[in-house]
Parts: sequence; C-alpha cells; structure tokens
Amino acid sequence: MKHIPYATQSINEDDIAAVVDVLHSDWLTTGPSVEKFERTVADYCGAKFAVAVNSATSALHIACLAAGLGEEDYLWTSSNTFVASANCGLYCGASVDFVDIDPKTYNMSVEHLRYKLEQADKLGRLPKVIIPVHFAGQSCEMAEIKYLADKYGFMIIEDASHAIGGSYLAGKIGCCAWSDMTVFSFHPVKIITTGEGGMVVTNNEAVYEHLVRLRSHGIVRQAQQMAEAPHGDWYYQQTELGFNYRITDLQAALGVSQMAKISEFIAKRREIAARYSDELGGQPVVIPFQHPDTDSAWHLYVIQVQEAALKSRKQIFNNLRDKGIGVNVHYIPVHTQPYYKKKFGFTESYCSNAVKYYRNCISLPMYYQLSEADQSYVIRIIKEVLA
Ligand SMILES: *Cc1c(COP(=O)(O)O)cnc(C)c1O
Repeated sequence: MKHIPYATQSINEDDIAAVVDVLHSDWLTTGPSVEKFERTVADYCGAKFAVAVNSATSALHIACLAAGLGEEDYLWTSSNTFVASANCGLYCGASVDFVDIDPKTYNMSVEHLRYKLEQADKLGRLPKVIIPVHFAGQSCEMAEIKYLADKYGFMIIEDASHAIGGSYLAGKIGCCAWSDMTVFSFHPVKIITTGEGGMVVTNNEAVYEHLVRLRSHGIVRQAQQMAEAPHGDWYYQQTELGFNYRITDLQAALGVSQMAKISEFIAKRREIAARYSDELGGQPVVIPFQHPDTDSAWHLYVIQVQEAALKSRKQIFNNLRDKGIGVNVHYIPVHTQPYYKKKFGFTESYCSNAVKYYRNCISLPMYYQLSEADQSYVIRIIKEVLA
C-alpha cells in the first residue's frame, strides 16, 4: 500500500555532515553556526538583520513584543492561517481580530482590510499590528497593505512561514520593503528545515537589538546597552522580561546546509505545481490562482472541490486517504476555533470567504522528493475519485 505524505523534509548526506561537524566542535547552542545561518538567510532575502529562534511561534511572539504590542492593543491577521499567527497577539495580552480572505488568492483581502480599518478608525480601535500570512507560499498584496499601514499607523509583521524562496514584485519575501519584520518557520513540513526553528528578519537595527534581547531572557552584556554601570567583566544585566527562545548550533548548521539547496527546492516545487495545474485544470476543481505580482514558494498546493461536484470534500478527502495519499486541509478558519469563539464571540459566518473556502479545500502532496511516478499516481487517483 502506498503512503505519500502531504509534506515532508528532505535531508541529504551534506545536511547530516553539517550537524555532525557541530557535534565535534566547542559550541552546541547559540554560537557561530547561528550567526552564519542568520547572515545566510538575511543575505538571501535582502534584509539587513536576522534573529534565529527555536520556532516561528517564538519568532512571532518576540516580533509582536518588538512592535510594542501590549494590553489594550489589537492585532489583526488572516482567518485562513495556522493558530500561531493569532496566538502571538494573545501572548502579549492584546486582543485579536481577523480579516477575511480574497476568494481567489486565499490571502488576506485588501478590500476587506480597508473596510475594517475605516470602521475601526471611527470607533477608535485601530490595530497596532497586522500579520499578513503568505498562504501556501504566495505573497499577499504588500504594496497595498503598506499603503494602509502608512495611512492608519500600524506595524506589519509578515508571517512567511510558508514562503521563504518566494518573491513579490522585485523583492524576495523577507526583504521587508513593505513591512517592519518578516517571520519564517523551519518546521520539517516547510520549505527548509532545522527540525524546529524560526527566524525574524528586519531592516530596523533597534528592532533587531530588541529581538536579540527578547530571545535570551531580556539580558544584555554590552556596557552601552545597560541601564546601570557594569560591576566588572562578568556582569550581565536584565533590562526587560525575555525568554529562552534560543536555537542550537546543531539546528543552525542544518539550516545553513538546507539554504545551500533552496533554489533547487523551490524549482522542484514550481515544477510539481505546474504539473498539477496542467493535469487538473480540466477537472471539476479550482486550481490555485497566482497573482501576477507574486512568485510562490509553493509550500502547499491546494485545490477546491467545486460546490456542484458529485462528491463532497469529505468524501473525496477520505477516498484519497484510503488510497494512501496523505491529503490535508489548510486551514480551519482560526475564528471558528472553540477557544477564539468563546474568548471573542466570533460567529461561524464571521469571515465568510474563509469559511466557504474551508468547506472545499484539500492540500495535495507537495515536497521536494515527490517523485514523478508518485505524482502521476496522485493525479490518476484524483481523476478517478472525481469521476
Ligand atoms: C508552521 C506555521 C507557523 C508556526 O511555525 P512553528 O515553527 O511550528 O512554530 C506559524 N504560522 C504559519 C502560517 C505556519 O504555517
């Protein structure tokens, strides 16, 4: 019986050797490999600064704190995302609200965002931070969101957990030309992996220094950063409340090794996506629309079952799973999660485009090592199941 997952990591001998080298070295936790990983990702994206941490969830948390998010503040994100994009706001004591999606791109709708901002402005409840999520690896319409940020005075943190290697207009995702910070995830299902891991990139030096402090207990070691004079060379000072969100050198060495292959990873994902779109274009499914300003990193390849299809999404999903195809669903709209409904009173119909999309979406297998034969099998079974 076949088992084809929806996503998985790709690790080769170079990756393994890179990790073993660190095990033979003096540093296991945050050391030279972390610095090298940060420099590699920042240079790749065209950002000035990078701070690597132990997950994208941690990265989102410290990014929100560095943006000044606190109690009394609002954070808005897309309803079509993983819960972490919203939970980071709650970690800071802020309130969280959701923007509906564009039914074509499945990303945050600029039109709905503009409408919500006009309403919030009248009520004096403008958000302090907005987190656009580059769903499936395709960038949001950042120029329009940046225009609204300048008009209404909010900070932008891009959740690019799906999107390292993608681009928008002339910039790589992560260049931060239209945002204050961008967050990446290196979980094994994502584009590159460090086992667990995340990163914040930014062009703002003060934000960068703040992120570094928050990563490690709010402690500073350089005299010019201290609130009081140092007692001696042993001295460190805690100037605020931070965390232990450090990533290890073992993980960072894996990250550097993975970054050496990112172009190859993305090229293969684009090939897989193009083949799905070719083969499934004539089927009773909606294939992913690509906005002309974007070049997706293709973390996910999502189809939508047409409303008038013979079988329901659930039937199709179960039929594919029964054939060993590890399809998945991304995402259950976050505002419909019991925790969020209870906390903020969201109704099922709150972000209606995200809810409608959720009823019909299925993520197909998409990863670097998906073989041509396995993809042929997936395509053949989908056609059979839809017939
Ligand atoms: C995976 C993911 C995260 C969380 O990443 P971790 O590294 O697992 O903490 C956050 N946001 C989105 C959109 C994700 O897909």
